[in-house]
Amino acid sequence: MGRMVTRSALISICSYAMDARQLGTLTCQCCRSPLDLHQPNPDRPDQFLGTCSACGRWFRVEAKADEGRICVVLIPEVEEIRSAGVTPAYRRSVE
Ligand SMILES: [Zn+2]
Repeated sequence: MGRMVTRSALISICSYAMDARQLGTLTCQCCRSPLDLHQPNPDRPDQFLGTCSACGRWFRVEAKADEGRICVVLIPEVEEIRSAGVTPAYRRSVE
């Protein structure tokens, strides 16, 4: 297995004061198209992956029923991270 080398970068986090039941009305922060919501882990029913079929952006979405808010994190494109000067360092596995 290859070695993983991590770097840090800033990300934008957006929080909406809306009920978790309104999750289906969520739109893309970049182009305002409706988001396609996916639930990758059935054991975490408040966690979603939002994808935009119009512009291709991905979002991490948390909608807790008891909090009355939905937290949306834009997942940056790898190319954006590179152009921000955060260059991944690749190393050959030593195992
Ligand atoms: Zn979009």
